[in-house]
Amino acid sequence: MPRPEPRRRIRGLWGSRSLVAVVATAALGAGAIRAPLEAQSRPRVRVIATGGTIAGQATGGQLTGGQLVEAVPELDEVAIIEVEEFSRIGSSAMTPDHWLRLSRRINELLTDDSALAGVIVTHGTDTMEETAYFLHLTVDSERPVVMVGSMRNASAVSADGPANLLSGVRVAVDPQARGRGVLVVLNDEIHSARDVRKTDNNRVDTFVSAEWGTLGIVDADRIVFRRSLATRHTTDSDLRVDASVTSLPMVPIVADFAGNDGSVLRAWATQGARAVVVQAFGGGRASPGMRRAATDVAAEGVPVVMASRVPEGRILASIGSIEDGILVAGDLPPHKARVLLMLAALQGRGAADIQRLLDTH
Ligand code: ASP
Repeated sequence: MPRPEPRRRIRGLWGSRSLVAVVATAALGAGAIRAPLEAQSRPRVRVIATGGTIAGQATGGQLTGGQLVEAVPELDEVAIIEVEEFSRIGSSAMTPDHWLRLSRRINELLTDDSALAGVIVTHGTDTMEETAYFLHLTVDSERPVVMVGSMRNASAVSADGPANLLSGVRVAVDPQARGRGVLVVLNDEIHSARDVRKTDNNRVDTFVSAEWGTLGIVDADRIVFRRSLATRHTTDSDLRVDASVTSLPMVPIVADFAGNDGSVLRAWATQGARAVVVQAFGGGRASPGMRRAATDVAAEGVPVVMASRVPEGRILASIGSIEDGILVAGDLPPHKARVLLMLAALQGRGAADIQRLLDTH
């Protein structure tokens, strides 16, 4: 009976384990391809690859999820990795339809496979926070969903993708990660999907949870958590989506600017927007033209949410008027308030209910 080829020698403890794997397989007889003995004790995770710089190459090509995993042999010591190709696009091309499909697929995986320890999504960093927050509001499981990306492509000197992927898998298999909502892991930091923002166009430490801080840290010897969220998400979310839903309502973001006459906001209302997010100035205060347009559009029954271009600090309730349909985003940035508003509009929620959701999710 031909002896199965031993796995290629991988440095570290795993090398000897693969020898155990070869012996174990031989003992079981040809054809009885079983995972290495220890493998059966290692947690199993699914890596879903969507594209982004983490998969990018200097030549312009995109690595597959399988190639991303193959490039990090240390993953073998952490978990049994299954890989699934979802898309191979830059995240600036991600759409709400992608969000829906990804959420539906993750819910399907976690529902059908109770032994799966968690899911890791490799994704571009440009719109990672929107996808992460959408999953945070719609994944119906306490098991970890961890998003990872990178600021340097896979061909770069000191590429950060491999380390971020390893960190993401280490977080996903850590029992402490359960029940904390969707996580974003880059640069050894563990962020909540709700609080994290991309703050630098070029640096590897670009993801920051400026107002509330990280949830934890990925250290060489262990995963350290120091914070949990006070807001609702995943199994406690009021915004989960039925698997039959195939599209989301149109909810634009309109940026305010000095001298704005509010015509763009009015135009969106005539284009069938189900709600609108205003990226206003500090404190959620708007130009007179935008404020007049917001009042008129809200009076026509299109909820308007006042958010701010300023990265920290809540928009106070006094800026809005629930009875007039003018709501406030609180500490959610415009692009995350939009994600929540699309889900609330899908459910046909009224102004008071939308404000409650903005204040609690
Ligand atoms: N530079 C971005 C990234 O870091 C491109 C993208 O978001 O797809 O992935």
